[in-house]
Amino acid sequence: MKSVLLTGTKKLELREVPKPEILHGKDVLLRPASVGVCGSDIHYFNEGRIGDQVITFPFSIGHECSAVVEKTGPEVKNLKPGDRVAVEPAISCGKCDQCLSGRRHTCRSLRFMGAPGQYDGCLSEYVIMPEENCFLLHGDMPLLTGALVEPLSIGAYAVKLAGSEKYKNVAILGSGPIGLSVLLALGKSPERKIFVTDKLNYRLEAARSLGAYWTGNPDEKDIIKEVGRVEPLQMDLVFECCGKQEALDQALDLLKPGAKLMIVGIPETDIIHFDVSKLRRKEITIQNVRRQNNSIPDAIRIAGENPRAAEMMITHVFNLEEAQKAFETVAGYKDGVIKAMIKLDR
Ligand SMILES: [Zn+2]
Ligand SMILES: [Zn+2]
Repeated sequence: MKSVLLTGTKKLELREVPKPEILHGKDVLLRPASVGVCGSDIHYFNEGRIGDQVITFPFSIGHECSAVVEKTGPEVKNLKPGDRVAVEPAISCGKCDQCLSGRRHTCRSLRFMGAPGQYDGCLSEYVIMPEENCFLLHGDMPLLTGALVEPLSIGAYAVKLAGSEKYKNVAILGSGPIGLSVLLALGKSPERKIFVTDKLNYRLEAARSLGAYWTGNPDEKDIIKEVGRVEPLQMDLVFECCGKQEALDQALDLLKPGAKLMIVGIPETDIIHFDVSKLRRKEITIQNVRRQNNSIPDAIRIAGENPRAAEMMITHVFNLEEAQKAFETVAGYKDGVIKAMIKLDR
């Protein structure tokens, strides 16, 4: 079968590799239909690593996909060939302390699709996943939208973890796919104002069209001052969704005393820092978000309820042969890109 492999930094190649086979009763052979290019993929593409997760080339990449069921193992109960699914890319053991306490996403022996030394990525004609990782898409949901479910699930989980129903003023720093997913997961509520920042104005436009109350570009204005003008008591909750030190600094200035900072973005550096006096005086709670947990069904619901989301977020669609171009587009923030998809079904 054909598979796109990362064969060096910034270098993807379409190669012929052996087709995977069903080995366990609960395995499902899937044909990926659309694969989203994720910020984490770009870290591997540009730097060959994320923190201590270092890749060895050639490396099978990709973890955001929708797929069509090709074949099922003998113990698969709820799926049949032809079914269309969104794929949860994290395979957990189901037996460790984390899994048994409902934290499958921090499973002690987690294997994540397209992560070094863990599990093959989905930029391939076929992949194998356990049945429990495959979630049926509602009847008419396009497979392209189905591939948005994974990033949407991260937004859904971050919002669930924040317990955001009691927060009135919320800021999202970074209006890329994850920031927009948080925005969508927060939903529309007349009592809540959502403030979104980004350095790319077209991404702020997307945020406005998806329901942001206020948007601002920190390169163009003093966002702390401007947000303070609208909401002098400051923010109840901030989602950092861009992995930038300066956004973390802004978050501490935007938050009111007793408020909460959710770190969703993957920092560019191994160490991040905080002004500890601000943290301490305001008694800020910091919550890290590790991908998602049990939030795929919420994400499928969000995608279904917001058809405009796919329209606004999926700015580019490439075919498998154009994977290099897709990655370069996302890595370079080229051509107004928000989410680039690679389509395998033709
Ligand atoms: Zn991702
Ligand atoms: Zn486990």
